[in-house]
Amino acid sequence: DPVVAIVGRPNVGKSTIINRIIGHREAVVEDKPGVTRDRVSYKAEWAGKDFTLVDTGGWEADAKGIDAQVAAQAEIAVAHADVVLLVVDAIVGISNTDEAIVRMLRRVKKPILLVANKVDAEHQEAEVHALWSLGMGEPFPVSGVHGRGLADLLDALLKVIPEHSQYAEPEALGGPRRIALVGRPNVGKSSLLNKLADEERAVVNDLAGTTRDPVDEIVELGDRPWRFVDTAGIRRRVHMAKGADFYASLRTQTAIERSEVCVVLLDVSEPISEQDVRIIQQVVDSGRALVLAFNKWDTLDEERRELLEREIDRDLAHVAWAPRVNISARTGWHKDKLVPALETALEAWDSRISTGRFNAFLGEIVAAHPHPLRGGKQPRILFGTQVSSRPPKFVLFTTGFLDPGYRRFIVRRLRETFDFTGTPIEISMRVRE
Ligand code: GDP
Repeated sequence: DPVVAIVGRPNVGKSTIINRIIGHREAVVEDKPGVTRDRVSYKAEWAGKDFTLVDTGGWEADAKGIDAQVAAQAEIAVAHADVVLLVVDAIVGISNTDEAIVRMLRRVKKPILLVANKVDAEHQEAEVHALWSLGMGEPFPVSGVHGRGLADLLDALLKVIPEHSQYAEPEALGGPRRIALVGRPNVGKSSLLNKLADEERAVVNDLAGTTRDPVDEIVELGDRPWRFVDTAGIRRRVHMAKGADFYASLRTQTAIERSEVCVVLLDVSEPISEQDVRIIQQVVDSGRALVLAFNKWDTLDEERRELLEREIDRDLAHVAWAPRVNISARTGWHKDKLVPALETALEAWDSRISTGRFNAFLGEIVAAHPHPLRGGKQPRILFGTQVSSRPPKFVLFTTGFLDPGYRRFIVRRLRETFDFTGTPIEISMRVRE
């Protein structure tokens, strides 16, 4: 669902408006200082359209002063949202804190609706005209307490809500988790699939849709079902006609995109090839969880084994975070190691770090290893937040562009501090001028 952030200084009535929109009263979470409640999301609906309302009120920024604190909170909220509702108190009027938020929002290229709260009676609507001066467009007069004006506000909201959210939590697709088994021809994909499917007490279901649909199979492993996607491409050996490479790689991409976690099979009897590295890169670029399976381990002699280790160091160092399992699809050796690796990778892929923890982490990094001086200036990280999972994506708010080396350093520290085994992670920056 699209995500709507609600921002505003304390006491403008955000919670009252949220309760009105969601149609019932949410238990008030403790609001004592030090009790971090981070971001709270509510499911909401208007005229048949679902959306998520996000309130980030509880997170404490390390920023100096109440205005900076509130603006930082709003900034975090906005980073998570497709549309922003800025709530002000129409009766009290505009404060310095409101202005701090407005200054921040001016840089935001997302739809923003200005909500003028506490307009409980018609005669108070005159107060609202003054709010045009904020430069945030037409103010919508509402009364959170009485519900006045909310229908108009929500109608306007539906007009600017995007069809597809960039920030929605990817819904856990119900049912078994989706695995793609990928790798260049002859690495042993179909052998492995057979070994897993036939020897487990597993039921192999043919989930064929139409003939043009890719075919999936459900295989029970470690007491639970897994959905292997697009196994038709593995099982049916298509004759290698001209252009087959192109279709094979297209097929691989489709399988990756339909999956949550990819097992990239490598053949240890041959050197790691460019094609292997390319397929691994496809998985990383698609943001899927990754497990590396080194197949045909039964063929390995001491000499080849040493070579393989060197190849791994040289060609796969950039995915050292991916779990590795050594298997033999032929004998079935170590096939039970696959499930724990898949589970580890998926857990990291799903994971979420609270804004509080993430900023504690950033604070330590910045204190111990500040960004190097560059041309007399030193870009600073102000704060950051995880904007989504599957895979984990982070945004850093900074005062200047961070060097690529420094960014890599942060990613490295992030991986050392939190467990991201098996998942790619992304960091982007919002630079304040
Ligand atoms: P796919 O193209 O990736 O599906 O590969 P296949 O499963 O068809 O396997 C290609 C060849 O490698 C076949 O001759 C298999 O018998 C052989 N093979 C697959 N796994 C193993 C293994 O673990 N050990 C050995 N020695 N051979 C294997």
